Amino acid sequence: MFEDLKLLVDLQIIDNEIYQLTSEERNTENHISRMKHEIEESAIKRVKLIRKQRELQEDKEVYEADILDHKRILDQKQIDLDNDKKTKKEHIKREVKKLEKAVEVFEEKVVELTNEIETIIFELSNIDKNILKIEKKIKTELKKKNEISKSTQKNLDKLLKKKTKVEQAIRVPFLNHYNRIMQIRNGIAITFVTEEGLCNGCKIHIPYQLQQKIKLKDDYNICEGCGRILVDVDMLGNKKKK
Ligand SMILES: [Zn+2]
Repeated sequence: MFEDLKLLVDLQIIDNEIYQLTSEERNTENHISRMKHEIEESAIKRVKLIRKQRELQEDKEVYEADILDHKRILDQKQIDLDNDKKTKKEHIKREVKKLEKAVEVFEEKVVELTNEIETIIFELSNIDKNILKIEKKIKTELKKKNEISKSTQKNLDKLLKKKTKVEQAIRVPFLNHYNRIMQIRNGIAITFVTEEGLCNGCKIHIPYQLQQKIKLKDDYNICEGCGRILVDVDMLGNKKKK
């Protein structure tokens, strides 16, 4: 039993080294995926703005057509004013006023819509510029990631080889347990009892009896709180100094 425990500690140490060795590459990867996400969000915003721009443009065209119609009628009214009898003229003048007021309102609306459209065009160009900038950054980060990966590859291969060797020496049920806890507990499957008598992984209190058992280093002890393997602190400490 002790042998498996010792090997598991070795495995944890190798896994920690692998984690550290790959951390920069992982950070770069995370940075890249955050930037990709940002681009996706900008692209969605872009689509919405383009749709809005089209709607505003259509509204604007309707108003412009209305203005043309009204002006055509106004021209006709002008002709009527020149030709009709005096009695009718007052009535026509009132209509002209109404039409002119409508044209004025429509023209104001057109100006308003034009401004809104211009704002959107400005926003769109900013979004496009920003997307280009991010894409450029992604390219740089990808290059950086490749360089990091190249520089760490040799050591990583060495560690992986070492890891396989250790894994093969551990009995399967123990290895399976270790791997399962590694997965669900953020890469820390083996931990120790703190001076206060707590599991260093999940901080629950470890009964005194179990603490004594752990100190004997000859049994496989599991934290009831987090499922991590509990070992004596100096098993981890001594190994770390190696
Ligand atoms: Zn725990």
